[in-house]
Amino acid sequence: MASARDHLAAVKAQITEIDGDAAHARLGKGALFLDVREPDEWEQGTIPDALYIPRGRLETNIEGQVADRSTEIIILCASGVRSAYAAKTLGEFGYTNVASLAGGFNKWKDQDRPWKVPAALSPEQRNRYQRHLLLPEVGEKGQQKLLDSKVLMLGAGGLGSPAALYLGAAGVGTSGIIDMDVVDASNLQRQILHNMDRIGDRKVDSAKKTIALLNPDVNVVTHDVRLGADNILDIIDGYDVIVDGTDNFPTRYLVNDASLLKRIPVVYGAIFRFEGQVSVFSPYEGPCYRCMLPIPPPADQAPSCAEAGVLGVLPGIIGSLQAMEAIKLLLDLGDPLVGRLMAYDALEESFRNFKLRRDPECPACGENAPPIVIAEYDEHCMPHPFEPPAS
Ligand SMILES: [Zn+2]
Repeated sequence: MASARDHLAAVKAQITEIDGDAAHARLGKGALFLDVREPDEWEQGTIPDALYIPRGRLETNIEGQVADRSTEIIILCASGVRSAYAAKTLGEFGYTNVASLAGGFNKWKDQDRPWKVPAALSPEQRNRYQRHLLLPEVGEKGQQKLLDSKVLMLGAGGLGSPAALYLGAAGVGTSGIIDMDVVDASNLQRQILHNMDRIGDRKVDSAKKTIALLNPDVNVVTHDVRLGADNILDIIDGYDVIVDGTDNFPTRYLVNDASLLKRIPVVYGAIFRFEGQVSVFSPYEGPCYRCMLPIPPPADQAPSCAEAGVLGVLPGIIGSLQAMEAIKLLLDLGDPLVGRLMAYDALEESFRNFKLRRDPECPACGENAPPIVIAEYDEHCMPHPFEPPAS
């Protein structure tokens, strides 16, 4: 039977070791540093931008985190032993450009090379987001990203309710909510942010209370105003994603044009009776709302929910899909609904995907489109009025 020392020597003979100077030269030059120590060691400090996967999760998580097996990976532990074993494992997994940092992080630190204390989740957060942390595609890094993210909900109504609840539960750190209504008993059939105690309250205040009870990590920023040409650019500024829960055409066109200017992706959702739609408008990468709908339908052919009715569960489904798309955008996960319109029919219980193409002639995002002017739109929603509003 081999002694531990002999075994380590045998493992080291099968892997590549890299010294501090050579590893340092690769820092910030495309090499991926992978820290495989225990959480309490990692929290004390690590190499900047190092990916963190504790040794015990390496086999299960590496493929989800590093799909390209030709990636240059430099593994570190405290002294270079665990990283040697980890390097051997990655070699067996087919990773072709792997090295173990000789002397580990301790020597690295002694040699006065760059390191930093990583932004770490608290024990409460680690418990709260445990089911996210178990997903290699999210992990500690993704959760931290969500906590640092800002999503703006347009409306605290049928779509905004499930979206804000799920994004809040997921730990999206800043939730902006714009709504100028008060809670009415007739809202409670579908607007699950609100309840009996809040009837008569401002919707944004009710939403803020509900989310605060759900997750203290979330900073809820409320905008108790009507979204208009005079304020939209200021309001949406700084958000990573906009979740559009508005229900009228002029606002949708306004949101579209402002989001193009600010280059903020919009997760679009719409509901009508038993049917809903979801898409993602990613500025200048995919089609925009005007590419999909260059002119609004005549008012008599586009009744609102207030006129046509809506089954209460429907916005729950569509708003949840919007929350999912928002998280995918924030974490750069999977295939967002860019260039696709997903249509849901509750009576058939079916989802259908339709291709949406970017229109080269689009008056807003087309190649030859004039500069975008943000202005109040009438019922025709014309994109670029010649006269901006006098304000
Ligand atoms: Zn367009």
